[in-house]
Amino acid sequence: MLKNIPKVDKVLEWPAIKVFVEDYSRWMIVQAIREALDQVRAEILGEKATKEILEEESIVQRVGVAIEKLNTPGLRRVINGTGVVLHTNLGRAALPPSLRETMFEAAFGYSTLEFNLETGARGKRAVHVEELLCRLTGAECAVVVNNNAAAVMLALSALARGKEVIVSRGELVEIGGSFRIPEVMEQSGAILREVGATNRTHPRDYRAAISDETALLLKVHTSNFAVVGFTSEVSTEEMVSVGREASLPVMVDAGSGTLVNLSAYGLQGEATVGEYLEAGADLVTFSGDKLLGGPQAGIIVGKRTFLEPMKKHPLLRALRLDKVTLAALEGTLRLYRDEQQALQQIPSLRMMTLSAEELASRAKAMVRRLRRTLPASVSLKTLKGFSQVGGGTFPLLELPTTLISVSVDGLSAQQLEQRLRTRVLPIIGRISQGDFLLDPRTVADQDVPDIISALQSLVAI
Ligand SMILES: *Cc1c(COP(=O)(O)O)cnc(C)c1O
Repeated sequence: MLKNIPKVDKVLEWPAIKVFVEDYSRWMIVQAIREALDQVRAEILGEKATKEILEEESIVQRVGVAIEKLNTPGLRRVINGTGVVLHTNLGRAALPPSLRETMFEAAFGYSTLEFNLETGARGKRAVHVEELLCRLTGAECAVVVNNNAAAVMLALSALARGKEVIVSRGELVEIGGSFRIPEVMEQSGAILREVGATNRTHPRDYRAAISDETALLLKVHTSNFAVVGFTSEVSTEEMVSVGREASLPVMVDAGSGTLVNLSAYGLQGEATVGEYLEAGADLVTFSGDKLLGGPQAGIIVGKRTFLEPMKKHPLLRALRLDKVTLAALEGTLRLYRDEQQALQQIPSLRMMTLSAEELASRAKAMVRRLRRTLPASVSLKTLKGFSQVGGGTFPLLELPTTLISVSVDGLSAQQLEQRLRTRVLPIIGRISQGDFLLDPRTVADQDVPDIISALQSLVAI
């Protein structure tokens, strides 16, 4: 069978392949043929091939699939049916649609990026964003970088290189994608001084560890896990009073960092960035694309004396934001000047704060819409369940939702999940107790027609 695999040049001559020339370059077609023939070879070698595999029609079909794959960008839109709002693997926060114009203009034209219109001379990048951040959090000064990992790295490099930073053993976190506090600290040149125990740390532990070598007390938000039972954590206020006694700054890595108090919406226990500052924290770092709902960015706010060295630090140049992200961050922050506007227009905040009743009626409306257009071989039902905030925030919180369970005659839940995931426009759901589930919390109304056509094409096969 291996000997009968046609040569690339021969396949190129087939009339059914020649039609591709109208739409694709010869280079693309050759790549696709190679890909198809490699698959055939692998299947023959794997001894799972029947002789039909060498038929022209079958090879042409593989070439067609390979061309489509080559023609589809690797980084592309997906429909998030998982109910995880800040899904790290699916790009965390979706930006407010109202930013489209601002980001487009920043990307495709010239802008005031580093130009001061009043003086006509060079201006400072990020001043607009930094001013907004000060106003929204009550901070004296702000610095923005590429992500929160970079923010922590810059802060430690500028303030604690070669000196000790005291951190509770209960807060030596690892965030997905290999951000580990001890390792970031090592990179920054700061020396980690661990205190307390995994479950309990007291103010006296910090006091006992302070020496001439200490540069900073660091509090890290235990974003993605919780220690329960016999526990004791040192509050920001307590850390600040220990810091004041020894004239040492206190930094809080707030992780997600919210600007609005979310407790009225069922998301309890997350201090706002302003509250950390009011509690006396000298610096607070947080992400742009977690609870803030903006672009990937790292934000540092706090006292000018501690932020000035960062503004002058050579690392800042390496960690700075690009203009499109700056436009997105400024646009997101501007929405926060009116809290209700932020909650309505920032998609992740809107999704997180949807009520159980809204979700139940949304699920029912979606099911009605799907049922109207889909054949009887697709079964749909709604059931109560939970969504998650995600992005390493609120790890224990279960947000009540109504899930849509989808099944298609002749397909297992695993097969359905796999077919929907591997489309050009992938639909990502989850499987629980043998059901394939979509959560309307993260599915937009405008995604419904795409879900309909995906299910229709599955049934048609
Ligand atoms: C998420 C998180 C980080 C990393 O933030 P990125 O913006 O993803 O780089 C750092 N520290 C804490 C506590 C976090 O929760």
